[in-house]
Amino acid sequence: MIKEKVAVIGSGNWGTVVAKILGTNVVQQSGFEHEIKMWVFEEMIGERKLTDLINEKHENVKYLPGVSIPENVVAVPDVVEAAKGATILVIVIPHQFVNGVCDKLKGNVHPKVKAISLVKGFYTTESGIRPISHLIKEALKISVCTLSGANLANEIAQEKFSETTIGYKNRHEGKLFKRLFETKYFKVNIVDDVLGVELCGALKNVIAIGAGMIDGLKLGENTKAAIIRIGLLEMKKYIKMFYKGIKDETFFESCGIADVITTCYGGRNRKAAEAFIVTGKSFEQLEKELLNGQKLQGTLTAKEIYLVLHRKGLEKEFPLFTTVYRIVFEGLDPHKIVEDIV
Ligand code: NAD
Ligand code: 13P
Repeated sequence: MIKEKVAVIGSGNWGTVVAKILGTNVVQQSGFEHEIKMWVFEEMIGERKLTDLINEKHENVKYLPGVSIPENVVAVPDVVEAAKGATILVIVIPHQFVNGVCDKLKGNVHPKVKAISLVKGFYTTESGIRPISHLIKEALKISVCTLSGANLANEIAQEKFSETTIGYKNRHEGKLFKRLFETKYFKVNIVDDVLGVELCGALKNVIAIGAGMIDGLKLGENTKAAIIRIGLLEMKKYIKMFYKGIKDETFFESCGIADVITTCYGGRNRKAAEAFIVTGKSFEQLEKELLNGQKLQGTLTAKEIYLVLHRKGLEKEFPLFTTVYRIVFEGLDPHKIVEDIV
């Protein structure tokens, strides 16, 4: 039987944790080649290349310092080289870079390759926004599953228990990915809902920006719970309004309510939004100051979905999403976040 060969496309905070999980699992599970290539967007750390440091120290000193990654994970600076011969692509990069990476991979992937997207966000075109899984599927002409959940990378790096959700269309692929990803501390549930899993992961980041603003304004836990509740309803309404076949149960998986909660309490989007209120600095500035190269997804996503709502005259039906956008991009008074949703 031909063994599956895994490539991890991405090596940020979550990408590196995922490489750690998979590097261990491919050795313990049957049917996988042991070496995993991990694509690294090359950068210099002082005088040294990040890829060289990762391969020497078996640690991603920039995006996951202090955590060992297995020696069978090999950092590669060229994305085509990283994907060469792989039958499984694990795509885990900030959403704004997926299009560029797909362009490079086009025509350069194994004929039998399948992908799983861990990306939280949308792809923006002139005519609107589209799911990232659709972009990957169409660009590379391959099938795409999705993985999303209440998965703060730094906690999973420390092997603290968490759940996640994999969305599949082909159950056989869903089971294969469950075998690839699941560990004692990382429990996978598979559901027949590729888009539902992915879209919850994208939209919860906007709710987290709202929750962080509440923290910055020191409005308390009840107000934050209200933002979470209203945000969940808007998330469900948006997904159901614009996409067909989404299952109600998906919103109760780890990718749904659980991810909204964890991101609103422990995520980077929450942290940056709180600082935005407290310091008055721009999100761009705060991303640089607070995240050391890691990327925020929630502000961009707020803009992307607002454009859809505005074009369709639906702002009033989505008061939280609309107000978050206006506070971030139009200088609206942050206190409006409460006034506008009641
Ligand atoms: P990150 O935000 O930690 O790091 C940013 C990454 O982007 C780095 O690897 C950097 O090298 C790379 N990069 C910078 N400029 C680039 C460019 N021009 N082209 C391509 N890559 C470039 O990354 P992450 O946390 O691994 O996030 C990847 C995806 O996973 C995101 O959609 C995120 O929402 C999602 N996610 C993150 C977490 C988490 O806790 N970090 C958890 C679940 C899901
Ligand atoms: P942040 O990007 O806000 O850190 O959220 C991480 C995440 O998606 C947790 O599931």
